[in-house]
Amino acid sequence: MVMLTYMDYINQLDQNSHESYALVNPHTKEEIVRIPECPDDQMEKAIQKAEIAFGKMKSMPAYERSEILDRSARVVSDYKNLFAETIAKESGKPMKYALGEVDRTVQTLKFSAIEARKLEGESIPLDAAPNGAGRDAYTIFEPIGVIGAITPFNFPLNLVVHKVGPAIAAGNSIIVKPAEKTPLSAILLREALVEAGLPEDAYHVITGDGPRLGQVLLKSNVIKKLTFTGSPEVGREIKSQAGLKKVTLELGNNSALYIDKSQQDRVKDIAKQAVTGAFSYNGQVCISTQRIYVHKNLIDPFLEEFKSETEKLIYGDPLDQTTDLSNLIDEPSQERLLEWISEAEKSGAKIVTGGTQVNGGLKPTILKDVKPESKIYKEEAFGPVVIVNTVESGEEALESINNSQYGLNAGVFTNDMKQALQFGHELNVGQVLINDLPTLRFDHMPYGGRKNSGYGYEGVKYAIQEMVNRKMISLNYT
Ligand code: NAD
Repeated sequence: MVMLTYMDYINQLDQNSHESYALVNPHTKEEIVRIPECPDDQMEKAIQKAEIAFGKMKSMPAYERSEILDRSARVVSDYKNLFAETIAKESGKPMKYALGEVDRTVQTLKFSAIEARKLEGESIPLDAAPNGAGRDAYTIFEPIGVIGAITPFNFPLNLVVHKVGPAIAAGNSIIVKPAEKTPLSAILLREALVEAGLPEDAYHVITGDGPRLGQVLLKSNVIKKLTFTGSPEVGREIKSQAGLKKVTLELGNNSALYIDKSQQDRVKDIAKQAVTGAFSYNGQVCISTQRIYVHKNLIDPFLEEFKSETEKLIYGDPLDQTTDLSNLIDEPSQERLLEWISEAEKSGAKIVTGGTQVNGGLKPTILKDVKPESKIYKEEAFGPVVIVNTVESGEEALESINNSQYGLNAGVFTNDMKQALQFGHELNVGQVLINDLPTLRFDHMPYGGRKNSGYGYEGVKYAIQEMVNRKMISLNYT
Protein backbone atom coordinates (compact mmCIF):
# COMPACT_ATOMS: atom_id res chain seq x y z
CA MET A 1 0.00 0.00 0.00
CA VAL A 2 1.28 3.48 -0.84
CA MET A 3 1.84 6.01 1.92
CA LEU A 4 -1.07 8.46 1.91
CA THR A 5 -0.07 12.09 1.70
CA TYR A 6 -1.81 15.33 0.79
CA MET A 7 1.41 16.81 -0.68
CA ASP A 8 1.23 15.06 -4.07
CA TYR A 9 -2.23 16.42 -4.75
CA ILE A 10 -1.29 19.90 -3.51
CA ASN A 11 1.71 19.88 -5.87
CA GLN A 12 -0.58 18.81 -8.69
CA LEU A 13 -2.99 21.68 -7.97
CA ASP A 14 -0.05 24.03 -7.62
CA GLN A 15 1.09 23.44 -11.20
CA ASN A 16 -1.91 25.37 -12.51
CA SER A 17 -2.39 28.00 -9.85
CA HIS A 18 -0.13 31.01 -9.52
CA GLU A 19 -1.14 32.09 -6.05
CA SER A 20 -1.23 30.39 -2.70
CA TYR A 21 -2.01 31.15 0.92
CA ALA A 22 -0.56 29.96 4.21
CA LEU A 23 -2.55 27.30 6.05
CA VAL A 24 -2.03 27.99 9.75
CA ASN A 25 -2.44 25.76 12.81
CA PRO A 26 -5.02 27.71 14.90
CA HIS A 27 -3.24 26.77 18.15
CA THR A 28 0.46 27.22 17.39
CA LYS A 29 -0.16 29.80 14.61
CA GLU A 30 2.58 28.01 12.65
CA GLU A 31 2.29 27.54 8.92
CA ILE A 32 1.43 23.92 8.06
CA VAL A 33 1.74 24.21 4.28
CA ARG A 34 0.89 26.66 1.48
CA ILE A 35 -2.43 25.98 -0.22
CA PRO A 36 -2.97 26.77 -3.91
CA GLU A 37 -5.49 29.53 -4.56
CA CYS A 38 -6.96 27.76 -7.57
CA PRO A 39 -8.04 30.07 -10.39
CA ASP A 40 -11.51 29.85 -11.93
CA ASP A 41 -10.32 27.95 -14.99
CA GLN A 42 -8.83 25.25 -12.77
CA MET A 43 -12.28 24.68 -11.30
CA GLU A 44 -13.73 24.68 -14.82
CA LYS A 45 -11.19 22.05 -15.94
CA ALA A 46 -11.95 19.91 -12.90
CA ILE A 47 -15.66 20.09 -13.78
CA GLN A 48 -14.92 18.95 -17.36
CA LYS A 49 -12.81 16.05 -16.13
CA ALA A 50 -15.46 15.08 -13.58
CA GLU A 51 -18.04 15.08 -16.38
CA ILE A 52 -15.92 12.58 -18.34
CA ALA A 53 -15.42 10.49 -15.19
CA PHE A 54 -19.19 10.50 -14.69
CA GLY A 55 -19.40 8.40 -17.86
CA LYS A 56 -17.34 5.72 -16.05
CA MET A 57 -19.20 6.09 -12.77
CA LYS A 58 -22.68 5.69 -14.19
CA SER A 59 -21.75 2.51 -16.02
CA MET A 60 -19.95 1.04 -12.99
CA PRO A 61 -22.07 -1.70 -11.39
CA ALA A 62 -23.41 -1.00 -7.92
CA TYR A 63 -21.38 -3.80 -6.34
CA GLU A 64 -18.13 -2.25 -7.67
CA ARG A 65 -19.01 1.17 -6.26
CA SER A 66 -19.87 -0.54 -3.00
CA GLU A 67 -16.54 -2.40 -2.92
CA ILE A 68 -14.58 0.80 -3.55
CA LEU A 69 -16.40 2.46 -0.65
CA ASP A 70 -15.77 -0.54 1.59
CA ARG A 71 -12.07 -0.59 0.70
CA SER A 72 -11.80 3.16 1.29
CA ALA A 73 -13.25 2.64 4.79
CA ARG A 74 -10.36 0.22 5.44
CA VAL A 75 -7.78 2.67 4.06
CA VAL A 76 -9.09 5.50 6.27
CA SER A 77 -9.06 3.13 9.23
CA ASP A 78 -5.48 2.02 8.46
CA TYR A 79 -4.38 5.67 8.43
CA LYS A 80 -6.49 6.71 11.41
CA ASN A 81 -3.71 8.63 13.15
CA LEU A 82 -2.65 10.49 10.03
CA PHE A 83 -6.24 11.59 9.42
CA ALA A 84 -6.77 12.58 13.05
CA GLU A 85 -3.51 14.54 13.26
CA THR A 86 -4.36 16.32 10.03
CA ILE A 87 -7.78 17.31 11.41
CA ALA A 88 -6.20 18.42 14.71
CA LYS A 89 -3.53 20.53 13.00
CA GLU A 90 -5.70 22.30 10.48
CA SER A 91 -8.86 22.81 12.55
CA GLY A 92 -7.52 22.92 16.12
CA LYS A 93 -9.82 20.02 17.06
CA PRO A 94 -8.41 18.14 20.07
CA MET A 95 -7.16 14.64 19.20
CA LYS A 96 -9.80 12.88 21.31
CA TYR A 97 -12.49 14.41 19.08
CA ALA A 98 -10.45 14.20 15.86
CA LEU A 99 -10.04 10.43 16.40
CA GLY A 100 -13.79 10.20 16.92
CA GLU A 101 -14.35 12.06 13.65
CA VAL A 102 -12.19 9.52 11.80
CA ASP A 103 -14.17 6.64 13.33
CA ARG A 104 -17.38 8.27 12.16
CA THR A 105 -15.91 8.74 8.69
CA VAL A 106 -15.20 5.02 8.49
CA GLN A 107 -18.82 4.38 9.48
CA THR A 108 -20.12 6.86 6.90
CA LEU A 109 -18.12 5.11 4.17
CA LYS A 110 -19.39 1.71 5.32
CA PHE A 111 -23.00 2.94 5.32
CA SER A 112 -22.41 4.36 1.83
CA ALA A 113 -21.09 0.96 0.69
CA ILE A 114 -24.26 -0.70 2.01
CA GLU A 115 -26.60 1.85 0.46
CA ALA A 116 -24.86 1.61 -2.93
CA ARG A 117 -26.34 -1.90 -3.19
CA LYS A 118 -29.83 -0.83 -2.14
CA LEU A 119 -30.98 1.75 -4.65
CA GLU A 120 -34.38 0.19 -5.02
CA GLY A 121 -37.31 1.58 -7.00
CA GLU A 122 -40.96 0.58 -6.76
CA SER A 123 -43.65 -0.87 -8.94
CA ILE A 124 -46.57 1.44 -9.77
CA PRO A 125 -50.08 0.01 -10.27
CA LEU A 126 -50.99 2.05 -13.36
CA ASP A 127 -54.33 0.23 -13.52
CA ALA A 128 -55.34 2.26 -10.47
CA ALA A 129 -56.15 5.03 -13.00
CA PRO A 130 -59.30 4.55 -15.13
CA ASN A 131 -57.40 4.12 -18.42
CA GLY A 132 -54.26 2.52 -17.03
CA ALA A 133 -55.22 -1.17 -17.37
CA GLY A 134 -52.80 -3.36 -19.31
CA ARG A 135 -49.64 -1.62 -18.21
CA ASP A 136 -46.92 -2.43 -15.72
CA ALA A 137 -44.68 0.35 -14.49
CA TYR A 138 -41.66 0.59 -12.27
CA THR A 139 -39.14 3.19 -11.19
CA ILE A 140 -35.38 3.16 -11.29
CA PHE A 141 -32.87 5.67 -9.94
CA GLU A 142 -30.23 7.23 -12.13
CA PRO A 143 -27.23 9.19 -10.86
CA ILE A 144 -27.68 12.90 -11.30
CA GLY A 145 -24.25 13.75 -12.79
CA VAL A 146 -21.48 15.97 -11.47
CA ILE A 147 -22.13 17.25 -7.95
CA GLY A 148 -20.63 20.40 -6.46
CA ALA A 149 -19.98 20.21 -2.70
CA ILE A 150 -19.06 23.15 -0.47
CA THR A 151 -18.03 22.24 3.06
CA PRO A 152 -17.28 24.00 6.41
CA PHE A 153 -14.23 23.92 8.64
CA ASN A 154 -15.62 22.24 11.72
CA PHE A 155 -15.81 18.59 10.60
CA PRO A 156 -13.33 18.79 7.73
CA LEU A 157 -13.42 15.03 7.09
CA ASN A 158 -16.78 13.59 8.10
CA LEU A 159 -18.85 16.39 6.59
CA VAL A 160 -16.97 15.94 3.32
CA VAL A 161 -17.55 12.20 3.36
CA HIS A 162 -21.26 12.82 4.02
CA LYS A 163 -21.35 14.26 0.51
CA VAL A 164 -18.69 12.16 -1.23
CA GLY A 165 -19.84 8.74 0.09
CA PRO A 166 -23.47 9.12 -1.06
CA ALA A 167 -22.38 10.71 -4.37
CA ILE A 168 -20.21 7.68 -5.21
CA ALA A 169 -22.79 5.22 -3.90
CA ALA A 170 -25.31 6.70 -6.36
CA GLY A 171 -22.83 6.63 -9.28
CA ASN A 172 -22.03 10.35 -9.51
CA SER A 173 -18.78 12.24 -9.67
CA ILE A 174 -18.07 15.11 -7.29
CA ILE A 175 -16.04 18.29 -6.89
CA VAL A 176 -15.39 19.41 -3.31
CA LYS A 177 -14.62 23.03 -2.43
CA PRO A 178 -13.48 22.61 1.20
CA ALA A 179 -13.30 25.44 3.73
CA GLU A 180 -10.21 27.60 3.12
CA LYS A 181 -8.96 26.86 6.66
CA THR A 182 -9.29 23.07 6.45
CA PRO A 183 -8.64 21.64 2.97
CA LEU A 184 -6.16 18.89 3.92
CA SER A 185 -8.60 16.32 5.28
CA ALA A 186 -10.71 16.49 2.08
CA ILE A 187 -7.56 15.95 0.01
CA LEU A 188 -6.45 12.97 2.12
CA LEU A 189 -9.91 11.47 1.77
CA ARG A 190 -9.59 11.75 -2.00
CA GLU A 191 -6.25 9.97 -1.88
CA ALA A 192 -7.82 7.17 0.21
CA LEU A 193 -10.65 6.74 -2.30
CA VAL A 194 -8.30 6.68 -5.28
CA GLU A 195 -6.15 4.15 -3.43
CA ALA A 196 -9.34 2.10 -2.97
CA GLY A 197 -9.97 2.11 -6.73
CA LEU A 198 -12.08 5.21 -7.43
CA PRO A 199 -11.38 6.66 -10.91
CA GLU A 200 -9.04 9.66 -10.35
CA ASP A 201 -11.36 12.23 -11.90
CA ALA A 202 -14.50 11.12 -10.08
CA TYR A 203 -13.52 13.21 -7.03
CA HIS A 204 -11.72 16.52 -7.27
CA VAL A 205 -10.80 18.89 -4.48
CA ILE A 206 -10.40 22.50 -5.55
CA THR A 207 -8.91 24.82 -2.95
CA GLY A 208 -9.29 28.56 -2.54
CA ASP A 209 -11.73 31.39 -2.00
CA GLY A 210 -15.33 30.28 -1.29
CA PRO A 211 -17.36 33.10 -2.85
CA ARG A 212 -15.28 33.10 -6.06
CA LEU A 213 -15.06 29.34 -6.64
CA GLY A 214 -18.67 28.98 -5.47
CA GLN A 215 -19.67 31.20 -8.41
CA VAL A 216 -17.93 28.87 -10.87
CA LEU A 217 -19.90 25.92 -9.48
CA LEU A 218 -23.13 27.92 -9.53
CA LYS A 219 -22.67 29.10 -13.12
CA SER A 220 -21.67 25.71 -14.55
CA ASN A 221 -24.32 23.90 -16.58
CA VAL A 222 -22.48 20.64 -15.97
CA ILE A 223 -23.04 20.76 -12.19
CA LYS A 224 -26.47 19.25 -11.59
CA LYS A 225 -26.57 19.51 -7.83
CA LEU A 226 -25.04 21.67 -5.13
CA THR A 227 -24.71 20.31 -1.65
CA PHE A 228 -23.66 22.87 0.95
CA THR A 229 -22.88 22.69 4.65
CA GLY A 230 -22.09 25.98 6.35
CA SER A 231 -23.62 29.20 7.59
CA PRO A 232 -27.21 30.27 6.84
CA GLU A 233 -26.03 33.51 5.18
CA VAL A 234 -24.00 31.64 2.55
CA GLY A 235 -26.67 28.94 2.21
CA ARG A 236 -29.32 31.52 1.32
CA GLU A 237 -27.03 33.10 -1.24
CA ILE A 238 -26.33 29.75 -2.88
CA LYS A 239 -30.02 28.81 -3.03
CA SER A 240 -31.00 32.15 -4.51
CA GLN A 241 -28.51 31.68 -7.36
CA ALA A 242 -28.89 27.96 -8.00
CA GLY A 243 -31.60 28.18 -10.65
CA LEU A 244 -32.80 24.68 -11.56
CA LYS A 245 -29.90 22.88 -9.90
CA LYS A 246 -30.95 20.66 -7.03
CA VAL A 247 -29.74 22.07 -3.71
CA THR A 248 -29.21 20.67 -0.23
CA LEU A 249 -28.37 23.08 2.59
CA GLU A 250 -27.17 21.94 6.02
CA LEU A 251 -26.93 25.12 8.08
CA GLY A 252 -26.56 26.39 11.63
CA ASN A 253 -28.52 26.03 14.86
CA ASN A 254 -28.67 27.22 18.46
CA SER A 255 -29.61 23.81 19.82
CA ALA A 256 -31.74 23.65 22.93
CA LEU A 257 -32.31 21.14 25.72
CA TYR A 258 -35.01 20.90 28.41
CA ILE A 259 -34.40 19.13 31.71
CA ASP A 260 -37.72 18.31 33.34
CA LYS A 261 -38.48 18.22 37.06
CA SER A 262 -38.83 14.41 36.82
CA GLN A 263 -35.02 14.18 36.42
CA GLN A 264 -33.99 14.72 40.04
CA ASP A 265 -32.22 11.34 40.18
CA ARG A 266 -30.32 11.95 36.94
CA VAL A 267 -29.65 15.65 37.07
CA LYS A 268 -25.94 15.29 37.92
CA ASP A 269 -25.40 12.76 35.19
CA ILE A 270 -27.19 14.99 32.66
CA ALA A 271 -25.02 17.92 33.77
CA LYS A 272 -21.88 15.85 33.04
CA GLN A 273 -23.19 14.89 29.60
CA ALA A 274 -24.11 18.51 28.91
CA VAL A 275 -20.45 19.53 29.39
CA THR A 276 -19.54 17.40 26.37
CA GLY A 277 -22.59 18.62 24.45
CA ALA A 278 -21.72 22.26 25.02
CA PHE A 279 -17.93 22.25 24.86
CA SER A 280 -16.70 19.46 22.63
CA TYR A 281 -14.54 21.01 19.90
CA ASN A 282 -15.06 24.36 21.63
CA GLY A 283 -18.73 24.36 20.78
CA GLN A 284 -17.86 24.66 17.09
CA VAL A 285 -20.45 22.03 16.25
CA CYS A 286 -23.69 22.79 14.40
CA ILE A 287 -25.68 20.90 17.05
CA SER A 288 -23.66 22.08 20.03
CA THR A 289 -25.86 22.40 23.13
CA GLN A 290 -26.28 26.17 23.35
CA ARG A 291 -29.52 26.84 25.27
CA ILE A 292 -30.36 24.74 28.32
CA TYR A 293 -33.73 25.19 30.03
CA VAL A 294 -33.89 23.64 33.50
CA HIS A 295 -37.03 23.20 35.58
CA LYS A 296 -36.86 25.54 38.61
CA ASN A 297 -36.79 22.55 41.03
CA LEU A 298 -33.49 21.31 39.58
CA ILE A 299 -31.65 24.49 38.65
CA ASP A 300 -29.36 24.55 41.72
CA PRO A 301 -28.05 20.96 41.58
CA PHE A 302 -27.74 21.22 37.78
CA LEU A 303 -25.72 24.43 37.83
CA GLU A 304 -23.49 23.25 40.68
CA GLU A 305 -22.47 20.08 38.81
CA PHE A 306 -22.35 21.71 35.38
CA LYS A 307 -20.04 24.47 36.65
CA SER A 308 -17.73 22.13 38.52
CA GLU A 309 -17.39 19.70 35.58
CA THR A 310 -16.85 22.57 33.13
CA GLU A 311 -14.04 23.97 35.26
CA LYS A 312 -12.21 20.63 35.00
CA LEU A 313 -11.80 20.94 31.21
CA ILE A 314 -8.19 21.11 30.09
CA TYR A 315 -7.15 23.77 27.62
CA GLY A 316 -4.12 23.07 25.43
CA ASP A 317 -2.50 21.82 22.24
CA PRO A 318 -4.97 19.87 20.09
CA LEU A 319 -2.29 17.23 19.43
CA ASP A 320 -2.09 16.43 23.13
CA GLN A 321 -4.38 13.49 23.96
CA THR A 322 -5.46 15.05 27.27
CA THR A 323 -6.64 18.34 25.75
CA ASP A 324 -10.37 19.08 25.93
CA LEU A 325 -10.40 22.60 24.53
CA SER A 326 -8.12 24.55 22.26
CA ASN A 327 -8.19 27.75 20.24
CA LEU A 328 -11.20 28.70 18.21
CA ILE A 329 -10.70 28.55 14.46
CA ASP A 330 -9.68 32.21 14.34
CA GLU A 331 -9.37 35.42 16.39
CA PRO A 332 -12.51 37.14 15.02
CA SER A 333 -14.66 34.23 16.28
CA GLN A 334 -13.27 34.78 19.77
CA GLU A 335 -13.75 38.55 19.66
CA ARG A 336 -17.33 38.12 18.47
CA LEU A 337 -18.11 35.83 21.40
CA LEU A 338 -16.54 38.18 23.95
CA GLU A 339 -18.73 40.98 22.58
CA TRP A 340 -21.86 38.82 22.76
CA ILE A 341 -21.06 37.82 26.37
CA SER A 342 -20.63 41.45 27.34
CA GLU A 343 -23.87 42.44 25.56
CA ALA A 344 -25.77 39.70 27.46
CA GLU A 345 -24.27 40.83 30.78
CA LYS A 346 -25.40 44.39 30.16
CA SER A 347 -28.97 43.18 29.81
CA GLY A 348 -28.87 41.23 33.08
CA ALA A 349 -27.21 37.85 32.33
CA LYS A 350 -24.82 36.45 34.97
CA ILE A 351 -21.58 34.65 34.28
CA VAL A 352 -21.50 31.33 36.17
CA THR A 353 -17.99 30.53 34.97
CA GLY A 354 -15.60 31.66 32.21
CA GLY A 355 -16.23 34.78 30.17
CA THR A 356 -12.55 35.58 29.80
CA GLN A 357 -9.57 34.48 27.76
CA VAL A 358 -7.02 31.83 28.64
CA ASN A 359 -3.66 31.57 26.83
CA GLY A 360 -5.14 33.00 23.65
CA GLY A 361 -8.31 30.87 23.86
CA LEU A 362 -11.73 31.52 25.34
CA LYS A 363 -12.55 29.90 28.70
CA PRO A 364 -15.59 27.63 28.55
CA THR A 365 -18.38 29.96 29.57
CA ILE A 366 -21.73 29.37 31.27
CA LEU A 367 -24.22 32.23 31.36
CA LYS A 368 -27.49 32.19 33.27
CA ASP A 369 -30.67 34.29 33.17
CA VAL A 370 -30.04 35.34 29.58
CA LYS A 371 -32.68 37.50 27.86
CA PRO A 372 -34.11 36.13 24.59
CA GLU A 373 -33.21 39.42 22.89
CA SER A 374 -29.45 38.85 23.47
CA LYS A 375 -27.33 37.83 20.49
CA ILE A 376 -25.87 34.89 22.40
CA TYR A 377 -29.45 33.56 22.78
CA LYS A 378 -30.81 34.39 19.33
CA GLU A 379 -27.82 33.67 17.11
CA GLU A 380 -25.62 30.62 16.73
CA ALA A 381 -22.73 30.91 19.22
CA PHE A 382 -20.44 28.40 17.46
CA GLY A 383 -18.06 28.64 20.37
CA PRO A 384 -17.65 27.54 24.02
CA VAL A 385 -20.54 29.55 25.45
CA VAL A 386 -23.72 28.01 26.86
CA ILE A 387 -26.87 29.55 28.31
CA VAL A 388 -28.73 28.06 31.30
CA ASN A 389 -32.17 29.55 31.94
CA THR A 390 -34.70 28.53 34.57
CA VAL A 391 -38.25 27.63 33.50
CA GLU A 392 -41.43 27.14 35.50
CA SER A 393 -42.81 24.32 33.36
CA GLY A 394 -42.36 22.07 30.33
CA GLU A 395 -44.79 24.29 28.43
CA GLU A 396 -42.55 27.29 28.98
CA ALA A 397 -39.50 25.28 27.84
CA LEU A 398 -41.28 24.09 24.69
CA GLU A 399 -42.23 27.63 23.78
CA SER A 400 -38.70 28.90 24.47
CA ILE A 401 -37.05 26.17 22.39
CA ASN A 402 -39.35 26.95 19.47
CA ASN A 403 -38.66 30.66 19.87
CA SER A 404 -35.69 30.42 17.53
CA GLN A 405 -34.87 31.25 13.93
CA TYR A 406 -33.30 27.77 13.75
CA GLY A 407 -34.71 24.24 13.73
CA LEU A 408 -32.12 21.45 13.53
CA ASN A 409 -31.90 19.31 16.72
CA ALA A 410 -33.50 19.70 20.15
CA GLY A 411 -33.45 17.44 23.22
CA VAL A 412 -35.58 16.78 26.28
CA PHE A 413 -34.87 14.74 29.40
CA THR A 414 -38.11 13.59 30.99
CA ASN A 415 -39.74 10.54 32.57
CA ASP A 416 -43.16 11.86 31.67
CA MET A 417 -44.24 9.95 28.57
CA LYS A 418 -46.97 12.42 27.68
CA GLN A 419 -44.48 15.27 27.85
CA ALA A 420 -41.94 13.34 25.76
CA LEU A 421 -44.54 12.78 23.05
CA GLN A 422 -45.67 16.39 23.25
CA PHE A 423 -42.09 17.57 22.68
CA GLY A 424 -41.70 15.01 19.91
CA HIS A 425 -44.70 16.37 18.07
CA GLU A 426 -44.57 20.07 18.86
CA LEU A 427 -40.90 20.97 18.58
CA ASN A 428 -40.36 22.71 15.26
CA VAL A 429 -37.04 21.02 14.44
CA GLY A 430 -35.82 18.27 12.13
CA GLN A 431 -34.69 15.87 14.89
CA VAL A 432 -36.05 15.52 18.46
CA LEU A 433 -33.86 13.59 20.90
CA ILE A 434 -35.78 12.27 23.89
CA ASN A 435 -33.59 11.49 26.90
CA ASP A 436 -30.52 12.60 24.98
CA LEU A 437 -28.72 15.83 24.32
CA PRO A 438 -29.44 17.71 21.09
CA THR A 439 -25.75 17.16 20.30
CA LEU A 440 -26.38 13.71 18.90
CA ARG A 441 -26.02 12.45 15.37
CA PHE A 442 -25.50 8.98 13.97
CA ASP A 443 -24.29 8.97 10.41
CA HIS A 444 -27.08 6.87 8.93
CA MET A 445 -29.98 8.74 10.49
CA PRO A 446 -31.95 11.34 8.54
CA TYR A 447 -30.54 14.72 9.37
CA GLY A 448 -31.87 18.05 8.18
CA GLY A 449 -33.01 21.40 9.45
CA ARG A 450 -36.02 23.67 9.26
CA LYS A 451 -36.26 27.46 9.22
CA ASN A 452 -32.72 28.92 8.99
CA SER A 453 -31.17 25.50 9.68
CA GLY A 454 -31.51 24.12 6.20
CA TYR A 455 -33.22 22.62 3.25
CA GLY A 456 -33.16 18.93 2.37
CA TYR A 457 -31.61 15.99 4.15
CA GLU A 458 -28.33 14.24 4.74
CA GLY A 459 -27.61 10.92 6.47
CA VAL A 460 -26.26 8.46 3.90
CA LYS A 461 -29.50 6.95 2.57
CA TYR A 462 -31.29 10.31 2.58
CA ALA A 463 -28.40 12.16 0.92
CA ILE A 464 -28.40 9.54 -1.86
CA GLN A 465 -32.11 10.19 -2.46
CA GLU A 466 -31.22 13.80 -3.18
CA MET A 467 -28.41 12.82 -5.59
CA VAL A 468 -30.41 10.72 -8.04
CA ASN A 469 -33.09 11.23 -10.66
CA ARG A 470 -36.12 9.00 -10.46
CA LYS A 471 -37.19 7.50 -13.80
CA MET A 472 -40.43 5.67 -14.45
CA ILE A 473 -40.64 3.01 -17.13
CA SER A 474 -44.06 1.80 -18.22
CA LEU A 475 -44.73 -1.37 -20.27
CA ASN A 476 -47.92 -1.67 -22.27
CA TYR A 477 -48.84 -5.35 -22.69
CA THR A 478 -52.25 -4.92 -24.26
P1 NAD B 1 -19.18 29.30 6.06
O1 NAD B 1 -20.57 29.45 5.57
O2 NAD B 1 -18.41 30.52 6.37
O3 NAD B 1 -18.30 28.49 4.98
C1 NAD B 1 -18.69 27.24 4.51
C2 NAD B 1 -18.12 27.02 3.11
O4 NAD B 1 -18.72 27.95 2.22
C3 NAD B 1 -16.62 27.24 3.00
O5 NAD B 1 -16.09 26.26 2.15
C4 NAD B 1 -16.52 28.61 2.35
O6 NAD B 1 -15.35 28.77 1.59
C5 NAD B 1 -17.73 28.60 1.44
N1 NAD B 1 -18.25 29.92 1.06
C6 NAD B 1 -18.17 31.07 1.76
N2 NAD B 1 -18.83 32.05 1.08
C7 NAD B 1 -19.33 31.48 -0.04
C8 NAD B 1 -20.11 31.96 -1.12
N3 NAD B 1 -20.52 33.23 -1.19
N4 NAD B 1 -20.46 31.10 -2.11
C9 NAD B 1 -20.08 29.81 -2.05
N5 NAD B 1 -19.33 29.29 -1.05
C10 NAD B 1 -18.96 30.12 -0.05
O7 NAD B 1 -19.24 28.31 7.32
P2 NAD B 1 -18.06 27.85 8.30
O8 NAD B 1 -17.68 28.98 9.17
O9 NAD B 1 -17.00 27.10 7.58
O10 NAD B 1 -18.85 26.75 9.16
C11 NAD B 1 -19.67 27.08 10.21
C12 NAD B 1 -21.14 27.02 9.85
O11 NAD B 1 -21.46 25.74 9.30
C13 NAD B 1 -22.02 27.15 11.09
O12 NAD B 1 -23.13 27.97 10.80
C14 NAD B 1 -22.47 25.73 11.35
O13 NAD B 1 -23.65 25.60 12.08
C15 NAD B 1 -22.62 25.23 9.96
N6 NAD B 1 -22.62 23.76 9.96
C16 NAD B 1 -23.79 23.10 9.73
C17 NAD B 1 -23.82 21.70 9.79
C18 NAD B 1 -25.07 20.94 9.52
O14 NAD B 1 -24.95 19.74 9.25
N7 NAD B 1 -26.24 21.52 9.58
C19 NAD B 1 -22.64 21.01 10.09
C20 NAD B 1 -21.48 21.74 10.33
C21 NAD B 1 -21.47 23.11 10.26
